[in-house]
Amino acid sequence: MNALAATNRNFRRAARILGLDSKLEKSLLIPYREIKVECTIPKDDGSLATFVGFRVQHDNARGPMKGGIRYHPEVDPDEVNALAQLMTWKTAVADIPYGGAKGGIGCSPKELSLSELERLTRVFTQKIHDLIGVHTDIPAPDMGTNAQTMAWILDEYSKFHGYSPAIVTGKPIDLGGSLGREAATGRGVVFATEALLNEYGQTITDLKFAIQGFGNVGYWAAKLIHERGGKVVAVSDITGAVKNPNGIDISDLIKHKEATGSLKDFQGGDSMDSNELLVHDCDVLIPCALGGVLHKGNAGDVKAKYIIEAANHPTDPDADEILSKKGVIILPDIYANGGGVTVSYFEWVQNIQGFMWDEEKVNNELQKYMTKSFRDIKAMCQTHNCDFRMGAFTLGVNRVARATVLRGWEA
Ligand code: GLU
Repeated sequence: MNALAATNRNFRRAARILGLDSKLEKSLLIPYREIKVECTIPKDDGSLATFVGFRVQHDNARGPMKGGIRYHPEVDPDEVNALAQLMTWKTAVADIPYGGAKGGIGCSPKELSLSELERLTRVFTQKIHDLIGVHTDIPAPDMGTNAQTMAWILDEYSKFHGYSPAIVTGKPIDLGGSLGREAATGRGVVFATEALLNEYGQTITDLKFAIQGFGNVGYWAAKLIHERGGKVVAVSDITGAVKNPNGIDISDLIKHKEATGSLKDFQGGDSMDSNELLVHDCDVLIPCALGGVLHKGNAGDVKAKYIIEAANHPTDPDADEILSKKGVIILPDIYANGGGVTVSYFEWVQNIQGFMWDEEKVNNELQKYMTKSFRDIKAMCQTHNCDFRMGAFTLGVNRVARATVLRGWEA
């Protein structure tokens, strides 16, 4: 089942639990607008290269649409659609005044030079600038993009519309980015983990963690868990995986990765097969990379008691079923990784106010939002007697449905 089918299925289950009218259900499911554009750029060697760019604007009942732009070879319309829809529920779960969107370009960013990436980003922005806006649709970084990508979008968009820092979030601090935005998704994952563990009378210090992915999200999650005294027993990224049953010194691992660009040959642990990380002996598994990594082929072998979905859609529906039968507790993506978009909201608010918060305020507000959402999800779980995934879906879908009905359909 692909990401879109799985996301639609979760939405439909939530709609049924909530008893939503079938016409409302249909209008919530179908995206507001799907954009597909051709992006041709001259490569550095003078040859032409053509890429396809997407922006799916899923829903705007609760506010401007919001979501990242992904540069990855696997970007396709179905995936972008699924991720846009997940953003609608994610912003509603976080209770920030946004709808959901997602974009992407099917490309291998590692095979493009910096100037090729800049040209590609500018061409994409030229094609979509009329359809995004500070109060319409606000892009942000996602896999394969970063603060620099946002700076190019800001610059290109501003050529058409005048200087507009609030058109993107996750931009460099020098251009109005927020302190704490870079770490926000990982920090939010840690706050979510703390809220969950607190529910079961446990703390990070008591437990062993396995973290899949050492990019922006996995890096910060590992670093902050290590700083809080958690034992990170396994870490992986595309270059390899390391394990150490006594806990990996994450600051040493960061230094090693900075020096060599890879996790390989790290002295503070043994290397292992990357696929084994997901079934490695640990208490808490945190997938922080691509979607669909937990499936029927490996879910039965998962040892973790808790899974925190820092990636978007890491668990497919087969795995969901197998894991819940085993009693594994899953904190779903639309809550667990919502720290990124929450601090994006703080960044947008700061831009609109023309006022900069200090990092302590950003982190404290983030903790408040993450803790409150957990309480709201738990209340839905109790009302509807369901797991955390359905608790989060019913919470998000219900908020969007209420806003939609209140706004009405009068043409
Ligand atoms: N790309 C991130 C996500 O999937 C952040 C989106 C945003 O900040 O708008 O949640």
